[in-house]
Amino acid sequence: MKELLSNLAILSSLLILYTQMTSASPLSRGSSWRRKITIGLFGGLLSNILMQYSMNIGNTIIDLRHIPIIIMAYYGGYLPTLSAGVLIIFGRFLFGFNTSSFAAILLVTLISAAALLISRRQFSKKKKIFWMVTISNLVFTVLVLNLLNDKKLLLFLVPIYWGISYLAGFISFSVVEYARRSQELFSRYKAESATDGLTGLNNFRKFDETFNQLLFNQERMSEKLSLLYIDIDYFKKINDRYGHGEGDVVLKELGNILKSSTRSFDIVSRNGGEEFTVILRDCGLNQAIELSELIRKNVEEFTFILNSGHQMNITVSIGIASFDDTTRNAADLIDDADKALYQAKRTGRNRVCVSQ
Ligand code: GH3
Ligand code: MG
Ligand code: MG
Repeated sequence: MKELLSNLAILSSLLILYTQMTSASPLSRGSSWRRKITIGLFGGLLSNILMQYSMNIGNTIIDLRHIPIIIMAYYGGYLPTLSAGVLIIFGRFLFGFNTSSFAAILLVTLISAAALLISRRQFSKKKKIFWMVTISNLVFTVLVLNLLNDKKLLLFLVPIYWGISYLAGFISFSVVEYARRSQELFSRYKAESATDGLTGLNNFRKFDETFNQLLFNQERMSEKLSLLYIDIDYFKKINDRYGHGEGDVVLKELGNILKSSTRSFDIVSRNGGEEFTVILRDCGLNQAIELSELIRKNVEEFTFILNSGHQMNITVSIGIASFDDTTRNAADLIDDADKALYQAKRTGRNRVCVSQ
């Protein structure tokens, strides 16, 4: 019993390690075959470690090696299950060639096949785990009844094995599921904290982070870098006339126009309200002016359709600052682009102004 409990402890701690290592892209049926095999081998290794701490009765070694197989079948399908199974059988033969080690092949094969079949059923998670463990326990029991003759020992061993095996099954799945859920939430919050909820563009925080990162790189690489500040003209009037909700429709659509008017690697953000920015990497002043004119024209020519069905047109003003055409100090880009935007507003709107 001590061995089986220490098996459970090892299993839980190694599963935590496993979920940490695979946190970036957890095993699923959609994983690449290379990843499936690698993770399957890790599962097989885990089972081999469990075998090292097994309960030995004569030549028969008893442990929780079936749990990693079940986990591989449940999350990844046949390829990782097969890789884990092969490694387990290989590892088992390192303990010696005898009836028990050949019986182990049967054990691993039957458990893998059953787990794969169950994993494809439309059962709830709990039901799947219950049946996978139950069938493993049954296979184990049949084999051990044939391998061991000591009736008294069996009467004691089999119920304990069943108990610990169920416990291990449910604990292991809780560990894996818990880790997966927290990793998923973490990546979702991380993405959301960088995204503007209305337009799906980067938010100000992400803009700030990216811009500072680029400034840092700038000092080392001194590649060209331009910044556009874009602001909708007389946007307040749209809100006043049609309502805030309709104003949001315009903001969202403008986000789409900005995305489609720029290059795929330009960084488009909504910095707040009706103010947007575009960071143009590896882009000098002339190209920045061309892109700004394209944006200005695309917005001017686009017909916005509001929820109410009303059609309307808007214009934008754009300020440009460019390293190292308008400034030799990249840290001035934000202030300079903002000033250029102000200049565009003052001189009539619907125009592009370059920082002086
Ligand atoms: P200008 O041409 O000088 O830029 O005039 P403007 O009316 O566009 O500028 P102003 O700064 O006076 O008004 C900006 C308006 O943007 C005021 C505010 O109600 C509106 N606004 C800010 N955030 C949002 C938003 O998330 N949704 C909507 N619908 N409106 C917003
Ligand atoms: Mg405005
Ligand atoms: Mg504004």
